[in-house]
Amino acid sequence: MTVNIDSKNVEQIVKQVLQEMGGVQVSSAPKSAGAVPAKSRVAMLTALEHYEIKEYPIPELSDDDILVKVEGCGICGTDAHEFKRDPFGLIPVVLGHEGTGEIVKMGKNVKKDSAGKPLNIGDKIVTSVIFSENPDITMYDLNKQNVGGADVYGLLPDDDIHLNGWFADYLVVRGGSSVFNVSDLSLEDRILIEPCAVLVHAVERAKTTGILRFNSRVAVQGCGPIGLICIAVLRTMGVENIVAIDGEEKRLAFAKEMGAGATVNFKEHKSIEELTAAVEKAFGGHLADFAFQCTGSPIAHSNIYKFIRAGGGLCELGFFINGGDATINPHFDICAKEITTVGSWVYTLRDYATTFDFLKRAKAIGLPMHKLITHKFPLSQINEAHVTNLKMEGLKIAIINE
Ligand SMILES: [Zn+2]
Repeated sequence: MTVNIDSKNVEQIVKQVLQEMGGVQVSSAPKSAGAVPAKSRVAMLTALEHYEIKEYPIPELSDDDILVKVEGCGICGTDAHEFKRDPFGLIPVVLGHEGTGEIVKMGKNVKKDSAGKPLNIGDKIVTSVIFSENPDITMYDLNKQNVGGADVYGLLPDDDIHLNGWFADYLVVRGGSSVFNVSDLSLEDRILIEPCAVLVHAVERAKTTGILRFNSRVAVQGCGPIGLICIAVLRTMGVENIVAIDGEEKRLAFAKEMGAGATVNFKEHKSIEELTAAVEKAFGGHLADFAFQCTGSPIAHSNIYKFIRAGGGLCELGFFINGGDATINPHFDICAKEITTVGSWVYTLRDYATTFDFLKRAKAIGLPMHKLITHKFPLSQINEAHVTNLKMEGLKIAIINE
């Protein structure tokens, strides 16, 4: 290609070069959406069952950091355990790992999210894991490795900045963390991403058995948020024949809304034989091809083998913390029936990307995902929010920032 440089063109080129020079950022000051307050509130768990709202200065960002204005964060079962017993020994701690918010400031090196999408001021994001200990784990080689052992914001030891959990007005996302631009999802959907990723991972684990198919009869035991989302994930992948098992009628009714074809209330049955017969009846005279165990109850783990046919499969994902030992009969429960079992624990980064698509599909087929968030509290009422969560009256309790 030849360019004809006459005097008029030269003038234009010089003008353009000057304009571009004017536009070059010579300073390394972080990009910002405008006024950011000097301080941020955080809800710090300072003692068992006691949060205090504290204020800390918002620090200067490094070139790799992102400052997020928190919009909301779900309360997880893990938060409930920390609130009641501090099993991880983290107190004092800023909890909240199911959060989302808007980028209000970012260092000059921040350009893209962990999936390669551009990041800009005003984008809505979620964080996943922090790979400070193992920088070799990336988005694309993580299929075999879950985040067990990796850190997440909201379960970190307190530090001198304190803005490291989502139960706060602002969060500082450090360089090296995984971040996803999820501006195309609603606030409610974004709050549900983390728990949904747990189920996307569990179903991926279940698929490795080769037993879970479109026409499989699938039992889902436990209809808290995890079991309900399990049903939704199965529905979005075309599994239709689902029986939900729980002890609360309200939850079983919701399981039906989520797409379970039939339900069994275990409280209505006096023995495991009776309960097994009820599950069999719910499947039209068959046992389950595959079962998902979504409760933290050892008895529930012992029971579930009885609901599975010979040659069937089981995914156990209910024990996020040590819930004690469960008794099974290895002969009847596993060997004689040749049951294939998999355990599932948290998620991989790849599962996060799948989860964003799952949420869109769930909406497209009319699953009432937004109804999972039954209670919303402002940050100032975080103690009340946790007490409500412990009463187990609702499903997902969320903090929505004022
Ligand atoms: Zn969680």
